[in-house]
Amino acid sequence: MSPNGLDAKTFFEHEGGGITYNDFILLPGHINFSLDEINLETSLTRNIKIKRPVVSSPMDTVTESGMAISMALLGGIGIIHYNNTIEEQVKEVRLVKRFENGFITEPVVLSPDHTIKDIDVIKKSYGFSGIPVTEDGTLHSKLIGIVTKRDIDFEEDRTKKLRDVMTTQLVTAPAGISLAEGNKILKESKKGKLPLVDKQGRLVSLMSRTDLLKNEDFPFASKNKDKQLLVGAALSTHEKDRERLDELARAGVDVVVIDSSQGDSTFQIDMIRHIKKKFPHIDVIGGNVVTAKQCKSLIDTGVDGLRIGMGSGSICITQDTLAVGRAQGSAVYHTAKFSREYANIPVTADGGIAHIGHVVKALSLGASAVMMGGLLAGTTEAPGEYFYEGGMRVKKYRGMASQEAMERGGGKRYLSSEDRIKVAQGVSGTVVDKGSVIHLVQYLMQSLLHSFQELGYKSLQELHKGLSEGTLRFEMRSQSAQTEGSVHNLYSFKEPHLGFLRMSH
Ligand code: NAD
Ligand code: IMP
Repeated sequence: MSPNGLDAKTFFEHEGGGITYNDFILLPGHINFSLDEINLETSLTRNIKIKRPVVSSPMDTVTESGMAISMALLGGIGIIHYNNTIEEQVKEVRLVKRFENGFITEPVVLSPDHTIKDIDVIKKSYGFSGIPVTEDGTLHSKLIGIVTKRDIDFEEDRTKKLRDVMTTQLVTAPAGISLAEGNKILKESKKGKLPLVDKQGRLVSLMSRTDLLKNEDFPFASKNKDKQLLVGAALSTHEKDRERLDELARAGVDVVVIDSSQGDSTFQIDMIRHIKKKFPHIDVIGGNVVTAKQCKSLIDTGVDGLRIGMGSGSICITQDTLAVGRAQGSAVYHTAKFSREYANIPVTADGGIAHIGHVVKALSLGASAVMMGGLLAGTTEAPGEYFYEGGMRVKKYRGMASQEAMERGGGKRYLSSEDRIKVAQGVSGTVVDKGSVIHLVQYLMQSLLHSFQELGYKSLQELHKGLSEGTLRFEMRSQSAQTEGSVHNLYSFKEPHLGFLRMSH
């Protein structure tokens, strides 16, 4: 036994079984810096850099626009799933691209010919605040008034037109002002809503007083040169998804992820060639792959990033059902090493991030980012409604190859013949309510900073240098070492805030 653990080459490159996150521990390094000096910036693909190495998975219970907006604000990125129509997926991408933090870019707008009754209907569905009135009742038309609660509270005739009740003395601000400037005007004006208008007086967006406290600044936000949030979208290798690709490109998607459990196929190779030829400016993440040979195949075809993992997801039954896959630790180590040395292509470790410490373990094996499904499911921003199960507030979380997900999108995604037997590779279940993903990921990232400090590395690049040069040290964890490393021998104890992040469920 080495007194200082083993380097990665000795630890991983021997004949033996596959290794995964729980099987090893990282040994501490030397600390000579504070948390503030650590830089978590990373490359998601050949051309896309993000400030936080986190990605939300393209699953229909994980990533639509709400999740993708939050992930991008936090410095990561979300990949919109494709278990929907082209129009639905494109709409989600557009919502992310149009999002401006603190500004409501798709406000409900009415025309002067609408009535108070229309406002009553809106109040029922959205809750009431202030509704802007424009000349023709659409956004980007001239703003002529606003109807607030006070304008209509005591009005008995609900058929009255808005032109007769709206406030026309408006406090507005020019579109393009900063979040801080908008917040200042809102506070000083004491109004509930601040409409933002262009030079011609057309309504562009709205700020809301009720959001004032939520209008946090997100210094790490992932944005393009036009200050739009970055967003990715998934598509399949099926020929018909070429049309989906065209529409996603039109909507301004930044990166596409080719979503397949086994990436080394002629179907995927054809799709990569097609994308790179038609849209060379869009980065492509290929996958999923788990061996160096698979990586070579996709890198030679032109991918800009790779997605690693086969059978490691929390909802996955691929390894049990098809007996193909790989332990995620070995998969990440070998693919990351090959891809870095062969063509400097970043890899994203996808699936099996069951708790907080797995994030740094995936990065320490060479991953440039981690993709998560289950850990982010159950947050407010994940698609789906909360419901109660056994007294717990839960949300649905399901595999994209579960019976249920295939039934929703499978007819579109899977092969055309109706009578084909579909073999499920995933299950459908529930996860507990985790609150907002904003707080969850901020906690996760703070914990990651602490991990980097304990290991003695100031950046992901330093960590990866330590991995290849052998200064990052690994040790195998026996089953009893794992028991010792968790809370034990207590009659009862109090979980810390977000304690579920450290436990495998
Ligand atoms: P897939 O679309 O790659 O494959 C489905 C079937 O379609 C396969 O039989 C495939 O050979 C066939 N096919 C694909 N492209 C074709 C084409 N152009 N022409 C003809 N046939 C074609 O999807 P999948 O691998 O079954 O995965 C479905 C979903 O489940 C994805 O969201 C995937 O991420 C997820 N999944 C992931 C894992 C994992 O371990 N990461 C495992 C299983 C499923
Ligand atoms: P998790 O983060 O451990 O929950 O794993 C999420 C990952 O599981 C996804 O990003 C996919 O790669 C994978 N996945 C999604 N759906 C399925 C499925 O139905 N079967 C197997 N794997 C899946």
